[in-house]
Amino acid sequence: MKSSEESQSLFASHEKIHPRFVLGFFSRLKILSGLVLLGIYYAIPWIQWDGQQSILFDLPARQFHILSLTFWPQDLIYLAFLLIVAAMTLFFFTSLAGRLWCGFACPQTIWTDAYLWMERLVEGNRTQQIKLDKAPMSFRKLRLKVTKHSLWIIFALWTGFTFVGYFTPINELSGRILDMQLGEWETFWLLFYSFAIYGMAGIMREQVCTYMCPYARFQSAMFDKNTMIIAYDEERGEQRGTRKKSDKDYKKKGLGDCIDCTMCVQVCPTGIDIRKGLQYQCISCSACIDACNEIMGKVSYPKGLIRYTTENKLEGRSSSILRPRIFVYAGILLALLIGIGHGIATRSLVEVDVIRDRNNLFSETYDGTIENIYRLRVMNLDKQVHRYQVQVTGIEDLVLLKEDDILVDAASITTLSVRLAAQPENLHKRSTPVYFQLTAEDNASISIIEEARFLGPLIRH
Ligand code: SF4
Ligand code: SF4
Repeated sequence: MKSSEESQSLFASHEKIHPRFVLGFFSRLKILSGLVLLGIYYAIPWIQWDGQQSILFDLPARQFHILSLTFWPQDLIYLAFLLIVAAMTLFFFTSLAGRLWCGFACPQTIWTDAYLWMERLVEGNRTQQIKLDKAPMSFRKLRLKVTKHSLWIIFALWTGFTFVGYFTPINELSGRILDMQLGEWETFWLLFYSFAIYGMAGIMREQVCTYMCPYARFQSAMFDKNTMIIAYDEERGEQRGTRKKSDKDYKKKGLGDCIDCTMCVQVCPTGIDIRKGLQYQCISCSACIDACNEIMGKVSYPKGLIRYTTENKLEGRSSSILRPRIFVYAGILLALLIGIGHGIATRSLVEVDVIRDRNNLFSETYDGTIENIYRLRVMNLDKQVHRYQVQVTGIEDLVLLKEDDILVDAASITTLSVRLAAQPENLHKRSTPVYFQLTAEDNASISIIEEARFLGPLIRH
């Protein structure tokens, strides 16, 4: 029976985008940026620094090694500040140059480019890829698809292996993989990260930017009419239309400079038409600028029909990207960076926790001396072993009684028990603040003071 009402599906199946490869000024910059960033990502775990991996997040030991610095859980405040710096940097560059991060430095863009390059290597250029996808399954198609996906998977596994190598010394990790002795968590994270890269950069590509990335949605809050954007000059380009290359009088016929070749659409990795105006899917990759400039060169028109500009400039108004918000972001960023740099440079290389023995408030010896017992948890945050001296102050003639030297290995923690002894006539309260000062014997600048309480009987003098 034929229904009088037509039903319409709310689901639109995704059409695969086959972006055309273009080589121009901006694409070369993007390739360079990708090579540098991927090079850094894959190389860093293999670089040794001061005899250990240059960057290693050693979670079981709760230590983060970055070049010659070692960070401990109590240094997480720096991580919080670094996240604020990252957010502020994003605000700063977005206000200055739009989605520069998305187009040239975002891991999603960089890895997607690497996957697109492998796809071109195996399946050929855009036209050949479209033809292959439309063709019925054949031995050749199967061979090409299997080769492409195998390459993608190998690359993803290498990426996942490198990721885990930031958390487990990569030399050890490679040895364990060769011996088939990888731990459960390492196996999980290696496969999980590989799968994520394969899925996001190989299969989902621009959909991650369009549907999953929150930045695409809120970046408009940071845009104004003076933000640098990539835009099509409608005034100059319209009325678009085809014409003969020899036709020099096209303007008299009402035509603009756009020859409607659709190259800007074909190169777009998100499949949009920049001629329809600024769209949230645009990741500012600049491919359409390169493509259009190439076409403009071929038809001998001035370049820049699609270009970096601002909305104000496009509308013929004066425009400056150096506006108050840029200086505010730059000021905050600078202050944060100086603060973090100063904090790291001056942070103490020794930490101590003084924990009172809770089972025994105080004890009185045969000669009337009052004693308190403490546990000292000494953390040597330096990269060399240190022996520490302890001074205690806060009560007259206070004496420290300890059996062992405080010798702590590099980047290690030692716990030891000590006693403090005071004469009752020097105690004026039941609870008196006392101060433990630890100083490295070989370097007086490595020192820390920690306050504790000394308890005694209530004595009326
Ligand atoms: S519109 Fe241009 S800049 Fe934006 S994503 Fe597409 S090609 Fe890149
Ligand atoms: S590449 Fe340039 S000329 Fe070709 S359609 Fe796009 S804007 Fe028009």
